[in-house]
Amino acid sequence: MRRLMVAGNWKMNGTRSSVAELLKGLKSQEFSATVDVAVFPTFLHVSEAVEALREVGVAVGAQNVATQSGPGALTGEVAASQLKDAGCSLVLIGHSERRQILGEAEGVLVAKFKAAQEAGLVPVLCVGETLEDREAERTFDVVGAQLDSVMDALGVEVFSQAVIAYEPVWAIGTGLTATPEQAQEVHHAIRARLAARNAEVAQGVRLLYGGSVKAANAADLFRMPDIDGGLIGGAALNADEFGAICRAAGS
Ligand code: PEP
Repeated sequence: MRRLMVAGNWKMNGTRSSVAELLKGLKSQEFSATVDVAVFPTFLHVSEAVEALREVGVAVGAQNVATQSGPGALTGEVAASQLKDAGCSLVLIGHSERRQILGEAEGVLVAKFKAAQEAGLVPVLCVGETLEDREAERTFDVVGAQLDSVMDALGVEVFSQAVIAYEPVWAIGTGLTATPEQAQEVHHAIRARLAARNAEVAQGVRLLYGGSVKAANAADLFRMPDIDGGLIGGAALNADEFGAICRAAGS
């Protein structure tokens, strides 16, 4: 039985005062004991989040990590070991904004995934197709290739200590959500892709859906058999809305 997870990606948002407010709001939420909850603040706000959320059992992750796991001469980067030391337990790898806007290539993502696991962090690998891909009926090929690049380089077994987030690029920050059926279809295909290499790993891995999830549509998405929770962007910046999404996962 897979535990559901709801994770909030704060992206490049937050000031010292707005983050303090958000953390206060999160601390006052009722979270279900059956759902793992996590937030991904900017590096600047990781320590505050770790301190504030420890008592309510909300995990903290980073939005990015260096390609090498330990410290060294890599100006501007943050090592996985430093994130671990700061209290992070997870890290996002391959968010579409990093793939598309920052041009992160598969080789870089694989190195980041490996570095994260070497330091004991759980990578959350983000995959998803663009609208153009979907319209050209390339969704399964694109998502499959994104998964294969990690599995070919590191082996399918790495997914026994990782999470996958399916985030159709056309649904991120647009207000357009995949229907539960559309999302389930891709989640099922992701699990099948992993199962072709290792059925046990495929059954155990958590597959989160991301793309304009809000309290109003969360329950219908989370009800689908291969959707094990959500990766939430915009709605995660509002503590009450995020809390309601987490409760939808627990109901
Ligand atoms: C995201 O950026 O991971 C995301 C899912 O954003 P939003 O919920 O705002 O679409």
